[in-house]
Amino acid sequence: MSTGLRIVIVGGVAGGASAATRARRMNEDAEITLIEKDEHISFANCGLPYYLGGEIAPREKLLVATPELLQKRFRIRVLTRTEVVGIDREARAVAIHDRRTDERGLLPYDRLILAPGAVPIRPPLPGIDAPNVLALRNLADTDRIHAKIHAAAGRRVAVVGAGYIGLEMAEQLTGQGVGVDLIELQPQVLPPVDPEMAEPLAQALRDKGVRLHLGTGLESVEVDAAGRAVAVILSNGERVPTDLVILGMGVRPLVDLARRAELQLGPQGGIAVNRSLQTSDPLIYAVGDAIEYPQGPTGGPQRMALAGPANRAGRLAGEHAATGNAAPMGAVSGTAIVRVFDWTAAGTGLSVRAAHKLGLAARSVTIVANHHAGYFPGAHPLTIKLAYEEPTGRILGGQVVGQEGVDKRIDVIATVIAFRGTVRNLADLDLSYAPPFGSAKDPLHLAAFAAVNHLNGLEDFVDADADLARYQVVDVRSAAEVAARPLAGAPQAINIPLDDLRDRLGELNAAEPTVVSCAVGQRGHAASRILRQKGFRQVFNLSGGATIRQRAMQAAGKLPGR
Ligand code: FAD
Repeated sequence: MSTGLRIVIVGGVAGGASAATRARRMNEDAEITLIEKDEHISFANCGLPYYLGGEIAPREKLLVATPELLQKRFRIRVLTRTEVVGIDREARAVAIHDRRTDERGLLPYDRLILAPGAVPIRPPLPGIDAPNVLALRNLADTDRIHAKIHAAAGRRVAVVGAGYIGLEMAEQLTGQGVGVDLIELQPQVLPPVDPEMAEPLAQALRDKGVRLHLGTGLESVEVDAAGRAVAVILSNGERVPTDLVILGMGVRPLVDLARRAELQLGPQGGIAVNRSLQTSDPLIYAVGDAIEYPQGPTGGPQRMALAGPANRAGRLAGEHAATGNAAPMGAVSGTAIVRVFDWTAAGTGLSVRAAHKLGLAARSVTIVANHHAGYFPGAHPLTIKLAYEEPTGRILGGQVVGQEGVDKRIDVIATVIAFRGTVRNLADLDLSYAPPFGSAKDPLHLAAFAAVNHLNGLEDFVDADADLARYQVVDVRSAAEVAARPLAGAPQAINIPLDDLRDRLGELNAAEPTVVSCAVGQRGHAASRILRQKGFRQVFNLSGGATIRQRAMQAAGKLPGR
């Protein structure tokens, strides 16, 4: 490859540092310069909440690589506290500003890689600029929050936004004995997943004393005479006293440099790139939170503020910039996971709602099964919701919630999506099994079997939150189970335990559309097969049974417990 190729990289954390080191490994002769406007490069942004909660210590553990290491091991010139303030595409140079010395200069490039990331959204609301209204993005933010939560006054924190970072902060602050008010505009926590899937997290938060304010937004911040935030005012009129406000309302891609250089932006406001991560100027690449990725499974442009895609894109852009060639960036399904105390929730790909918006014929099944063999000690129920396309069976997305084993199930679903696999492929997967780890029929298989049964016309489903009023409802649980937890929103349900069903068919009307329900859907499946073979014309199994229905109704505010 050409010697002395000048590669300049803007932004020195996830995408930028990956690009720089890959470029070096591919091209020993290139002159590589990594420019970072802040103090630190390559720090563990994803670890910041856990440092604040004391799970990661000491602070140095967050510093994954230092400028010295990159200089010594990779011969990468690192300029920290230096901001790139402009791009002159004609002259092929970036304008830089050394924040330490206030000096300005030009740095020529042959290839430029933009990895500037994103900034937390800070809506222009009254009081929002108070010094104790903070967002978490980098180490400086972390140090400020750390000082405040460990000061005597910082013992009540309002976290605004119950997305991934908001939930991590709520969990970690609670662990530090801080009183947390968690405020979310949507009527549920973790809005990227469906309400009934997020409900166990909401319950876990409440159980640990986190005060949830759902379906209400931040209206303003009340400040005292000294200008410090003392309360947040919510759109429902509530006043929540607080010592510190942490904003977790999402991020805005940093595209100012790209826009001023007249690089093309995509429909979602991120920098548009091709599969080689090249912008509309082929000498300029862009990666990370600032760009729009091809979304799995649709391929459409989508912003994804996640570390995995940023690192992989950085690596590919670094290679392409250094050699002129690299494998194309694969589609990004937005696979994400969060722990909230004893619970874990994860999602990948599209929800049915999102798929419908894109015009796809999407359906879903929900199953509940133990994360490993039930007879082995410590089994916990796992809920899997699988979204797939009709009639092809292509998997469009998945959501998993439970206490154990969530991570491996979501990653298998993400893998199947990446290979454009179907529910039949998932049903066929040869997954590892021994009692401490799984079951001979893994929960993923059960979800896939249910979807395949549907596609093969053996079974149909109604969603957990369906209006059951127009159906003949048969609850096939035991009388004791029904007494302990009646099927929510179905007062007309007839209780015929599964084992009695064949003998009591005369109590039912075979011509009526019928919903069968059990605890989680498994006995419902057997019941639906009996009824269908006994001449019932329209039979539906309630997806996820009474358990998921309870969560769906709770999430919709139709049951007490919120
Ligand atoms: P960044 O890593 O943010 O790096 C961009 C860098 O560019 C910044 O340091 C910035 O100062 C610098 N910069 C910007 N403009 C300029 C300029 N003009 N000149 C010089 N330098 C500039 N993702 C996950 O997948 N899992 C997680 O668990 C997870 N947890 C997270 C927790 C927190 C608290 C945060 C903040 C993020 C988390 N993320 C997580 C998201 C993940 O960190 C980001 O998606 C990822 O860091 C994006 O990489 P990037 O290179 O695009 O941007």
